[in-house]
Amino acid sequence: MIGGKRFENIRRLLAHDIGIDLGTANTLVYLRGRGIVINEPSVVAINQKTGRVVAIGNGAKQMLGRTPTHIIAVKPLVEGVISDFEVTEEMITHLLRRAQEGNRKFIGPRVVVGVPSGITNVETRAVRDATRNAGAGEVHIVEEPMAAAIGIKLPVKDPVGSMVIDIGGGTADIAVISLGGVVRSKNLRVAGDRLNQDIISYIRNEFKILIGEKTAENIKIAIGSVIPREAALEASVKGRDLVTGLPREVVITDADVREAISQSIASLVEAAREVLETTPPEVLADIMHRGIYLAGGGALLGGLAELLHEEIKIPIFVAPDPLTCVARGAGVILENLEDYRDVLIANEDELPAAK
Ligand code: ADP
Ligand code: MG
Repeated sequence: MIGGKRFENIRRLLAHDIGIDLGTANTLVYLRGRGIVINEPSVVAINQKTGRVVAIGNGAKQMLGRTPTHIIAVKPLVEGVISDFEVTEEMITHLLRRAQEGNRKFIGPRVVVGVPSGITNVETRAVRDATRNAGAGEVHIVEEPMAAAIGIKLPVKDPVGSMVIDIGGGTADIAVISLGGVVRSKNLRVAGDRLNQDIISYIRNEFKILIGEKTAENIKIAIGSVIPREAALEASVKGRDLVTGLPREVVITDADVREAISQSIASLVEAAREVLETTPPEVLADIMHRGIYLAGGGALLGGLAELLHEEIKIPIFVAPDPLTCVARGAGVILENLEDYRDVLIANEDELPAAK
């Protein structure tokens, strides 16, 4: 690879550099020198007759449930991992094009992409290939909790332990970081989507009403909290009565939501505890002293920081602007690629062959 500051400066004039947080719920794109330029749901609408993508992001999300039969809306990422390679590639192509809109440059962009911690080599390769096929000149892959930690400005490269819990839509990533690497991590499928499903099941069982996913998510965001509040919160919910088949409205409280999601929350707490239990003592001491940072949309769930603190006796902080940590971290990496090269996942193609 051609190095040097001079080349870097020339490169900057010729290419856009882009960071992508390909989340299960939201996709964010960071453009060097501009910041976050795209922040939309990870949804793609496809015309099944032609196989072509007709809309992406907000446009595709609006089509959900309103499409003619030959158009389907899909989420290309399931549990943080590419479930549909071609759709993901089209989505990245579209994102790269849109991010550079009206200001095309001469060489393919250098792209930093976040992936969940602990994904397999095959999955990492799929992300790398999809990004390269989408027109990237260079692809660099970083584990999302690492990017989140960098976005939060934790001293990831220092010989000091940092811990991040990133609760997204499909997955929660728990990671302990030190000296530029992930020391311990756990990735679980208990995150925002699961909480929505918990609420759907609870309302079906307790009130005999069927509600949709979007309604469940709205309830979670409006009145969800994992510890009791001084004054109860209420929300009225419309759904289909399972007995009569007709629409019915009920009022549910934060206590209902708390009960609905209690098991999932307990498994999140348990997972954090398990990661801490296997963390080397010196690093653990750092974390006890410096605290744990919550990122991702799930960090905004009411009372989560207090509950975690009560359960594991370590200070817990909600990262500022938790939904954008990964994208901002990818941006920091882009702007200082040489400094952060060792936090990236190595490209197998560039590794010396095993003897
Ligand atoms: P991903 O990285 O998987 O795309 P995000 O970090 O964008 O996920 O977070 C999306 C999740 O955060 C969704 O499940 C959403 O319901 C949840 N979320 C967003 N805001 C809140 C809130 N205020 N309270 C609880 N959950 C929230
Ligand atoms: Mg995420």
